[in-house]
Amino acid sequence: MMSQPMSAMHEPLLRIEDLRTYFRTRMGDVRAVDGVNLTIQPGETVGLVGESGSGKSVTARSIIRLVPTPPGRYAGGRILFHGTDLLTLPEREMQELRGDKISMIFQDPMTFLNPVLTVGEQVAEAIRRHQRVSRAEARDRTIELFRTVGIPNAEARYDAYPHHLSGGMRQRVMIAIALSCEPELLIADEPTTALDVTIQAQILELLRSLQERFGMSILLITHDLGVVAEMCRSVAVMYAGRIVEQAPVETLFSDPEHPYTIGLMNAIPRADLPEVPPRPIEGSPPDLLRPPSGCRFHPRCPYRQDICQRVDPPLQTIAPGHHSACHFAGQGTFARPALASADMGRVSPEQVVSAAPEARR
Ligand code: SF4
Repeated sequence: MMSQPMSAMHEPLLRIEDLRTYFRTRMGDVRAVDGVNLTIQPGETVGLVGESGSGKSVTARSIIRLVPTPPGRYAGGRILFHGTDLLTLPEREMQELRGDKISMIFQDPMTFLNPVLTVGEQVAEAIRRHQRVSRAEARDRTIELFRTVGIPNAEARYDAYPHHLSGGMRQRVMIAIALSCEPELLIADEPTTALDVTIQAQILELLRSLQERFGMSILLITHDLGVVAEMCRSVAVMYAGRIVEQAPVETLFSDPEHPYTIGLMNAIPRADLPEVPPRPIEGSPPDLLRPPSGCRFHPRCPYRQDICQRVDPPLQTIAPGHHSACHFAGQGTFARPALASADMGRVSPEQVVSAAPEARR
């Protein structure tokens, strides 16, 4: 683990300040990430949730500096890891950090794993890239890691090629690679989306147990509020390149204070209440080449007023740890998610969990 100076002991592990990641096109800049602020404490699991195209994955790839440049560019902001701005690190130092202090797992392991190397060789290679160990030691550690991530017949699987394994097993190999150097921060980008429901639950349980065992922080990128409810201590909701609400997970589910968050909750199928149909958010996410004026959610927002089209609402604190970028947050303006008319109370994380397998089918 990276040693910390005493002055940094109370610093968050990661602090993202006003991050802007744009993509140049012939039509102009696509502002995929446009002023994101996010903090992750040591040992904390933070969820980053939103629809496709909201900027979640670009934020994740910006942290680890895997945005292709060009056409991408870091147009502003800082990403402080132990106080060091990753955006200014020379590429060689960034390479050392990647897969060592910060690891990432992706939605589709097949795009990451090399098809012509055995999965054991790939994990051993990741170990040897960052640690001075012999081939035999790397092999032994790989087999131990396979056991840690629940790969059965670990020794025999060392010599398997990726196409020999199921999707769930390949994801376990990815997690083994990510854990090979005991990272302080694991970024998991939709790690279960490509898997069937039973395997999803197993992988989430694995991540949770590994987080407890190794004490690492996790940034969990997902479009699935059920996954957030199961896994995270706090959650940030992204819309159109920005964070529009951020809160401890219990607070977000019990007292959402942004119409977009409420819309996401209303869109969840409820296994416990089949008579309450899911209500998708009307309209489409905006074109980030020319985002709407004022509040970017205003064309889809059922609560919009004149001010919303003119004035961009800043992310403001409405309670300790609870932030919302809405002019009317904290004023009792919004109907409760989905169940208010049936007077059935607010959505709780437990209810979302129970609905989650349905939602993921
Ligand atoms: Fe809706 Fe206005 Fe709030 Fe935006 S600022 S979320 S348009 S009420």
